[in-house]
Amino acid sequence: ATQGIGDYKAESSFSFEEIGGQKVAKKELSEALDFMVQSQAADELGIRPLKGILLCGPPGTGKTLLAKAAATYTNSVFLSCSGSDFIEVYAGVGASRIRNLFNKARDKAKKSNKKGAVIFIDEIDVLGAKRGANRGHMEYEQTLNALLVEMDGLKTHESIQILIIGATNRPDLLDPALLRPGRFDRQIQVDLPDKEGREHILNIHLRNKPVSDDVNLAMLAKETVGFSGAQLESVCNEAAILSLRQGKKTINFEQLKESIEKVLLGAAGDRKAIE
Ligand code: ATP
Repeated sequence: ATQGIGDYKAESSFSFEEIGGQKVAKKELSEALDFMVQSQAADELGIRPLKGILLCGPPGTGKTLLAKAAATYTNSVFLSCSGSDFIEVYAGVGASRIRNLFNKARDKAKKSNKKGAVIFIDEIDVLGAKRGANRGHMEYEQTLNALLVEMDGLKTHESIQILIIGATNRPDLLDPALLRPGRFDRQIQVDLPDKEGREHILNIHLRNKPVSDDVNLAMLAKETVGFSGAQLESVCNEAAILSLRQGKKTINFEQLKESIEKVLLGAAGDRKAIE
């Protein structure tokens, strides 16, 4: 898996408009990114460069999408990996993967003529858990240290600006060294969507599908309390599948309601499997 890290083939044209709900997160994130966009002015005012942002919240709420949109917003390439990619039994492997990742980011940005690189690390708690906690292992220590060294070495004056976006559902597990000023010093909460957010997300995932006139998105949003963006996307997909099976040309209200039940049952099934 060594070569795979950061090899995300995303075209970086994904924008904030394609993310439903998450008004506060989008606003906070784009405001933070403005420091990177206007790096020279920020530097002249002596503002500390933005190096790391933490997106905190449950799975499937759009953290990866926000990181992709951040790359587009700052004219950067996007690299994606997960904390678990760095966990290896062999000493030094995790640390060298971290260094490779940063080098790859610089290379990729140069080759694509971009201003910077956004490195997204999903499940950052796996590699950045508190020292001594559930990591009695030297290897963890070296990997986390390598990340801190790379982050501390990032300068505003570099030709390629690098921003690290970490995602976690458990910021409380993170080593305090990661949260110090100049590292991941900004936390943005990415929660489950509210009713308005759910309607927006349904709208996004249905807008390129043929939908019947009887479909009432506000009503569907009301009936999907507690659903994540990923689950809402599943609802839309399931409804399209149902429609195909029933030989229909459009997706109707009934099919969407049936799909809500199906996704709910699926989620309950997942929980059972874990228990
Ligand atoms: P994880 O922590 O499990 O990786 P995540 O928060 O990074 O989850 P994403 O990978 O961004 O979640 O979302 C998964 C999919 O769910 C997206 O590809 C998209 O289809 C849908 N989705 C999630 N949130 C939203 C949203 N706010 N707007 C539109 N689609 C969404």
